[in-house]
Amino acid sequence: MPYRAPVRDYSFLFDHVVGLEQVTATDRFAEATPDMVEAILTEAGRMCEEVLAPLQRNGDTHPARLENGVVRTSPGFDEGYKAIAEGGWVGISADPEFGGMGLPMTVTTAVNEMMASACLALQLNPLMTQGQIEALEHHASDELKALYLPKLISGEWCGTMNLTEPQAGSDVGALKAKAEPQDDGTYAITGQKIYISWGDNDFSENVCHLVLARLPGAVEGTKGISLFMVPKFIPDADGKPGERNDLRVVSLEHKMGLHGSPTAVMEYSGAKGWMVGPENGGMAAMFTMMNNARLGVGGQGIGVAEGAYQHALAYALDRKQGRAGGSGSIVEHADVRRMLTEMKAETWAARAIALSCAVAIDMTTATGDAGWKARAAFLTPIAKAFGTDVGMAVSQTGVQVHGGMGFVEETGAAQYSRDVRVTAIYEGTNGIQAMDLVARKMMDGGEAAGALLDEIVADAKSAQDDLPDMAQAVFDAAETLRETTDWLVAQELQDRFAVAVPYLRAFARVLGAGFHLRAAMKGDDPRRALARFYIERMLPEHAGLLAQVRQGADGLYDLSLDDLAAA
Ligand SMILES: Cc1cc2nc3c(=O)[nH]c(=O)nc-3n(C[C@H](O)[C@H](O)[C@H](O)COP(=O)(O)OP(=O)(O)OC[C@H]3O[C@@H](n4cnc5c(N)ncnc54)[C@H](O)[C@@H]3O)c2cc1C
Repeated sequence: MPYRAPVRDYSFLFDHVVGLEQVTATDRFAEATPDMVEAILTEAGRMCEEVLAPLQRNGDTHPARLENGVVRTSPGFDEGYKAIAEGGWVGISADPEFGGMGLPMTVTTAVNEMMASACLALQLNPLMTQGQIEALEHHASDELKALYLPKLISGEWCGTMNLTEPQAGSDVGALKAKAEPQDDGTYAITGQKIYISWGDNDFSENVCHLVLARLPGAVEGTKGISLFMVPKFIPDADGKPGERNDLRVVSLEHKMGLHGSPTAVMEYSGAKGWMVGPENGGMAAMFTMMNNARLGVGGQGIGVAEGAYQHALAYALDRKQGRAGGSGSIVEHADVRRMLTEMKAETWAARAIALSCAVAIDMTTATGDAGWKARAAFLTPIAKAFGTDVGMAVSQTGVQVHGGMGFVEETGAAQYSRDVRVTAIYEGTNGIQAMDLVARKMMDGGEAAGALLDEIVADAKSAQDDLPDMAQAVFDAAETLRETTDWLVAQELQDRFAVAVPYLRAFARVLGAGFHLRAAMKGDDPRRALARFYIERMLPEHAGLLAQVRQGADGLYDLSLDDLAAA
C-alpha cells in the first residue's frame, strides 16, 4: 500500500492535544497561522507520498557504496534529496535571516516524521543538517554563520556530526582527535571518526563536518573538547566550494538495516577546521545539536511505526485466511485486530509525546520561560527512547501481522524493523537516555515530572463526568507514578540507574494515557475507542514497570560474572 501522510492526525493533535496555539500566540511564531501550518503539512505530506516513499525499497536493495573513494548513493536518492531541499524542508525551523522558514519545531517534528515514514535512510540526511544548522545558529561566529548557514539551509550543502571514535562511543569524553592551532587562525584536525552518518554523498555541492577534537594540552574528559567546522571543500572568498580538504571516507559499514544511509569511517589528516564556540566548549555546542537530534530520532521511530502500521493494515485487509467472518480477511481475527489496534494506539501516544516535547522547545525559544525549558529537557529523553522503542515494537508487530510474508523481504515489512533498530542505539542509546532522565533531569527534585503529572490529573478530573472509567484509571496511574517518582528522587544514583529504563517507560505509558484521554474528550467515537483501548489494555503495564522501579539496584549484582558465564 502506498504511504498516506497522516496530516489530519497532526492537525487534530496540534489543535486539541498538544496546544500549538500557545506557540503561535507568541510574537516569535506569530506567522505560523493555522492556514499556513495546514498548507505546510499538506505540501510536505504530498512530497513524502509521491517522491520519497517510492525510494524506500531502493535504499534497502541498492545500498550506498564506496567507489574509488567516492560515495555513490542509492538510485533515486539524488532526486529525492533535491525535492527535500527545494521544498525548503531542510531549513523549515531555521532562522529566516539566512533563508530558513522560521517555523516552530512542532511543525518540523511532524514534517520530519512524515519523511521518516516515507524513506528513513534518506531522511537521516536532512535531519543531521538541521542539527548542524541549530548548533551554528547558537554557537558559530558571525563570519561562519554568513558563510555556511545559507548553503546548509537551502540544502545545497549537507551537514554531519562527528563524535564517535573506536574507543569513544557512549563515553564521548574519551575521544582523541586532535586540533592543532595554525598561524592563520584555523586548526589542523587529525584523527579517525567512525559510524558517521551521511559522511559523504554524490548529490550535494559540499559536505560540512562538525567534528569534536582536543586542543593541545586540553584536560581529559568532556571538559577538554572543542568543536570544529571541517568542510569537504574549503569555501573560497565568494563562498563557493573550492580546494579539497584533507579528509576522506575510508570505508562504509555493512549494516543490519538503513542501507541507503552511508555510515562512514572518516579519516582527518590535518584537515583545515574552524572553531565553533569557545575553546573547550565543544560539548555544550554539540549538546545543542544533540538535543535537537534526540527529538528528531524519536520522530524517526514514530515515523517508522506509522509506515509499518499502514503496511500491516493494508496486508491484513487483503489477506484471506481461516474463518474470519465479516470481510473474510485476517483483519477480522481477534488477535490480528489486537495487534493492529495496539500499533495504532502506541504510535499515536508516542507522536503526542514527541509533539508536546516540541511545543515545550518552541515555548522555551519564544519566551525563555524556565518552566518550559525544564519541561523540554525532561521530555526529550522520553521522546527519544519511547519513540524509538515504539518504532521497534510496532515494526516487529507489523512483521507478525504479515505472517510468513513478513519474513520475506519483498513485502517491505522486515525492512521497517531492520531500519529502525539503530534509532534505539544512536544519538545516545536508550539506556543512556533513561539514565539522563533519572539523574540530570531530576536534579530539580522531580519538579518537572510533578508539573506534567499535575496536568494529567487535572485532565482526569475534568473527564470524570464524561468518561468516568477512563478518567479514574488515568488519575490512579498518575498518582502511583507520582509516589514512585517521589521515592526515586530520594534514592542513590546507582539505584536510579538500575531502574531508569522501566521508569522512563512507565512515565511514557502514563503520559500516553493522559494524551489519549485528552483526545477522547475532544474527539469523535473512533478517538474515544482508541483511547479506551490504550487506557484499558496498555496503561496497566505501568504498574508492573513501577514495581520493578521500586526494586532499585537490589539484587542486580547478585549473579557474579562467573555465574553469568556458567554454562
Ligand atoms: C548506523 C549508525 C549511525 C551512526 N551515526 C553517527 C553519527 O552520525 N555521528 C556519530 O558521532 N556517531 C554515530 N553513531 C555512533 C552512535 O552514536 C554510537 O554507536 C552510540 O553512541 C553507542 O556507542 P557505542 O557503539 O560505542 O556503544 P557503547 O558505548 O560501547 O555501548 C554498548 C552498550 O553499553 C551501554 N553503556 C555504555 N556506557 C554506559 C554507561 N555509562 N552506563 C550504562 N550503560 C552504558 C550502552 O547503552 C550499550 O547498551 C552511529 C552509529 C550507528 C550504528
